[in-house]
Amino acid sequence: MARYTDASCKLCRREGEKLFLKGQRCYSNKCAIARRSFAPGQHGQSRKKVSEYGIQLREKQKTRRFYGVLEKQFRKIYATADKMKGKTGENLLALLELRLDNVVYRMGLASSRAEARQLVNHGHFTVNGKKANIPSMFLVAGDVLEVKDSSRASVKFKDMAERTLPKWLSFDYNNLKGSVVQTPERQDVDLEVKEHLIVELYSK
Ligand code: SF4
Repeated sequence: MARYTDASCKLCRREGEKLFLKGQRCYSNKCAIARRSFAPGQHGQSRKKVSEYGIQLREKQKTRRFYGVLEKQFRKIYATADKMKGKTGENLLALLELRLDNVVYRMGLASSRAEARQLVNHGHFTVNGKKANIPSMFLVAGDVLEVKDSSRASVKFKDMAERTLPKWLSFDYNNLKGSVVQTPERQDVDLEVKEHLIVELYSK
């Protein structure tokens, strides 16, 4: 399976904002955006006039990188969003939020989406009582996510601190069990993105 293997911080520097790809480091003064808030590479500090296409492309890349999704997968999710009722851009963001790896991250079971993806791959969770080890799987309202019995004693899940969750999720930190309460709405997405620009880009 293809995956991005270069430095994650370069992605934030390219987009010019924090994408929170590295867990605790993102909240420390080691964050590369705090130290070098310009694009990576030889021409990173030169000023360039950005075309309309360039602006649309940056919005798409930022969103894709924030959720840790590769281009092919992102296109597929967009195609699904486009077939759904309602606004394509909002559907796209809702689907990205409902990916299993993102739900694990949002529930506070991992410090980043990359870590969440690894935990899912290692088979630490069940969804509706069944093994769930595919990070790209979509959850729907009513789905119940649980830490597997055999994983409960692991340092990662023992003595987890409660945290504030988005209103579309619930999680019981004593029983390590939670659910998707409702489909996330646009205001539940904390990424500053103009999703209509992604729609414009893909509609060309
Ligand atoms: Fe981005 Fe986190 Fe790296 Fe900062 S530390 S640049 S937020 S990945």
